[in-house]
Order: sequence, then C-alpha cells, then structure tokens
Amino acid sequence: MLKFDVAIVGGGPVGACAAALLARAAGSGAARLRVVLLEPHVPPPPAEGSPPDARVVAISRASEALLRSAGAWPAIEDGRRACAYERMRIWHEGVAPESDGVLIFDAADVGEPNLGYIIESRLLQTALIAAFTAAGGQLDRAQFSCLAIEADGVRIATSRGELSARLVVGADGAQSAVRAATGLAAEVSGYHQTAIVATVATARPHQMTAWQRFMRNGTLAFLPLFDGTSSIVWSADEPLAAELAASSAAAFALELDRASDLALGATRLVGERASFPLRRLTAPRYVAERVALIGDAAHVVHPLAGQGVNLGLLDAGALAQELMGALARREDPGSLGVLRAYERWRKSEIAVMAASIDTFDRLLAHGTGPIARLAQRGLGWVNRSQELRRFFIRRALGVSGELPDAARRVS
Ligand SMILES: Cc1cc2nc3c(=O)[nH]c(=O)nc-3n(C[C@H](O)[C@H](O)[C@H](O)COP(=O)(O)OP(=O)(O)OC[C@H]3O[C@@H](n4cnc5c(N)ncnc54)[C@H](O)[C@@H]3O)c2cc1C
Repeated sequence: MLKFDVAIVGGGPVGACAAALLARAAGSGAARLRVVLLEPHVPPPPAEGSPPDARVVAISRASEALLRSAGAWPAIEDGRRACAYERMRIWHEGVAPESDGVLIFDAADVGEPNLGYIIESRLLQTALIAAFTAAGGQLDRAQFSCLAIEADGVRIATSRGELSARLVVGADGAQSAVRAATGLAAEVSGYHQTAIVATVATARPHQMTAWQRFMRNGTLAFLPLFDGTSSIVWSADEPLAAELAASSAAAFALELDRASDLALGATRLVGERASFPLRRLTAPRYVAERVALIGDAAHVVHPLAGQGVNLGLLDAGALAQELMGALARREDPGSLGVLRAYERWRKSEIAVMAASIDTFDRLLAHGTGPIARLAQRGLGWVNRSQELRRFFIRRALGVSGELPDAARRVS
C-alpha cells in the first residue's frame, strides 16, 4: 500500500492550492513531506484564443499572493486570461447608476493598481494542479470512497486502490464525502435563491470595473472579462430565477437590461446560461483526529460578495502553515492539537465573513423595513467617507484579518 504524509481529497482550486503550497514547502528542504492529491476530473486548461468559460471567480489580492506562493501565478499571468479589476460600483435599485448614491471602491484610493482579478475557475484549478505536480507532488486521478482512522494514520479506499496517510484533507466541495465518512456534521440552510451565470456582451465597455446592483428580489453583478465581455452572476429569488432560466436568449437580455438599469448599455448573451441553487453550509467542526476540512467542504457562503474561493484559499494557506510548523517542531501533522490550531484560526474569521454577507443579502437585496431603507441609503453615505471607503477596500483586497504568511505579499 502506498504511504503518504498528507492525502488531499479534491483537486478543485482549494485542494489544489493546499497541495501546491505543501509540495513547494516540502521541496524547499525545510521538511520532507509526501503529498498526494486525489482528483478524478482534471479538465484541460482553457485553450489559447478560446472564449471565456461561464464559470469565473473574483479573486482578491491576498489570493493572488497565495497563488504566487503556490507557484501558480506565472501560468495564470502568461495566459493573459485573468482580468484585473480596478474598481467596484455598487448601488441599490432605488438610485440611478450614475448618481451620488453609488458606492465606488477604487484601488487607486489606497495606492494599489487593482482590487483583484476575474479569472476562470478552470484556469485557477489547472494552474494550481500544474504547480503541484511541477513541485514533485503526486496526482492520483482517483475518487475517494471511504476511510478508516487508526492510531498512527488513515487508510483510504479509492476507485483505484488503497493508500494510507498521516492526515487526510477533505477539499471535496459542499457534498464532501470525506466529511460524511468522518462523521463531521454540516448545517445547511437554503437562501431560496438561484444564481444564474452567463457571459454577455455589453454596448458600453466594462472599464475594468465590477458592477453590482442590489434589488428587492436579488443581486446582479457584472464582472469584467479579459476579452471585453462581462460575466454576470444574477442571484435571484427562486420564482424569478426559474422564469429567467426558461426564457429565450432575447427575453433574458431584455430582463437583464431592465435589472441592470442599462448601466453598461444594452446586453447580448454570448454563451449558455448555468444555474446554481444557493445554500449556506457550515460545518460546526472543521477537524477530527487525522482529518481536516477546507474550502466548500467546511463552509459555503452566498456568492454576492465573491468570497467562497478566497476564503477557501486562505484555509489552504493557514492549514499548510500549521502543518509545516508542526513538522518543524517534529510533531505529528495529523494530531488533533495541530489541527485545532487551524480550526480556531479559520472558523472565527469565516463566521464573521458569513454573517456580514448574510446581513448584506437581508438588508440590501431583500430588506423592506426602515433599517433596510437606511442601509440602502447608506451606500451613498459610505461613499462620502474616505475612512469608511478605505476600510471596505481593504476587505475587498482581502488583506484584513489574520493572513497566512503565504498571503502577505500585498498586505
Ligand atoms: C454562482 C457562483 C459564483 C461564485 N463566484 C465566486 C467569486 O466570484 N469569488 C469567489 O471567491 N468564490 C465564488 N464562488 C464560490 C466558489 O465557486 C467556491 O467557493 C469554490 O469553487 C470552492 O472551491 P473548492 O475547491 O472548495 O470546491 P470545488 O470547487 O467544489 O471542488 C471540489 C473538488 O473535489 C472533487 N471531488 C468531489 N468529490 C470527490 C471524491 N469523492 N474524491 C475525489 N475528489 C472529489 C471535485 O471533482 C472537485 O474538483 C461562487 C459560487 C457560485 C455558485
């Protein structure tokens, strides 16, 4: 049976980032670590010159720093498919898109060239997996089936055989089989919304800007893409989302023009629509003896703040740092004491972020009472305070909270 120190289940962006960080740290000679990454579905990277995928994510500057530390950034930068965004314009349907009720976060206000990047999920994933294998990590295109936790390690059964490790990292997404096999619980609640994503052409240029409009029945974001088109994420209440998904391309574009208040002019769909039912998921415990959960396996948040991958990448950085610290102290990386330090660090940060995202959703996208009306008008007030704007810009850059060392380069 093959023996490893760390087996990471799930080579999505978060698992692949943890794998690449660990493989590179181990390769630097500080400590020897044998790392295996289990991922049955590795897509090819986007082909040169091909149109952008419908699934994109906004990544923060802190995530960029992590991707540099993981060795994945050169491939992302060289492909010229990541679009830096320089500002965000956020407004409520009660005000016009060009009025002073619009909240504008501009990277220039804090002396930064941009706030982050819009990047295809597939590019993120494939660049990280390539960085992992280049650093000497072993990719196993197998599906995890079950595990047995023993005193000094974990036995893992996969679709391609058995292996053992001192630690198993569950990075296998919201439906995590590792979480279920370990008996770790997950609290799940529905938002009663579905996110519709698609690529659209717009009459006016996106101006390297992320545009977001809060409405009484959802939130609509336009994220700028490298080829001049924009990716929309429309998180709509379920009845509206069902209508939007079933409508013709022309009818959908008309609804989009109405919902965006023509902030970027008339729109035209240039690809297929995809729908994602939205749920919030929280695992009350991220760790057990010899098991740790990271990314969507541990927590799923509403996409309106574009934070899911960013939070997961920080989990990967924090876990890698705790594990390398344990190895340097000659401690067992699978011991509960080591894993609890990771859990304490990340759980509190995620609880704060998830609660603020839900408050934004309740007040800005759905609220109708006096407090909600105050919050909706508050966007314009925040815009008039340089201090408050800087506070939120730092959050958008991802440089607030306790960062792993690997994410510190831009802080
Ligand atoms: C509409 C929408 C828009 C979003 N926009 C943003 C955004 O702008 N910014 C942002 O930060 N986040 C965003 N998110 C969230 C983001 O997509 C997720 O947080 C992110 O994909 C989680 O990454 P992950 O690696 O933890 O999980 P996943 O991406 O789900 O990856 C899990 C991996 O595990 C593998 N796997 C599953 N089961 C097994 C098994 N049994 N054995 C082996 N492997 C297995 C899967 O094949 C997959 O590759 C958005 C989400 C949605 C729905």
